[in-house]
Amino acid sequence: MRLWYKRSTRGDKGLGMYCCNLLDQAIDRGILYYGEKSRIDDGRIVNDLDSEYFIRTASSRGYDYLGINYCPFCGRALSHGLWMAEKKK
Ligand SMILES: [Zn+2]
Repeated sequence: MRLWYKRSTRGDKGLGMYCCNLLDQAIDRGILYYGEKSRIDDGRIVNDLDSEYFIRTASSRGYDYLGINYCPFCGRALSHGLWMAEKKK
């Protein structure tokens, strides 16, 4: 499996770690969330993936966040968990 390795900088956004423009756009629109789990304070995390990327969807109270392992657009590995697993090999 090919992994996408995080770039440390991306333009003036600072924490840009996006594999493709479609993911970038989804995050800009608030459909996807990128960031640390601990910074999510307006909803709940639905699953337990070790990831910093989440699908964000409105629920009855705030938002539901669903962690994702792969980019839904280009299919590259995104999550911290997968990335660490690959490094251990
Ligand atoms: Zn992508």
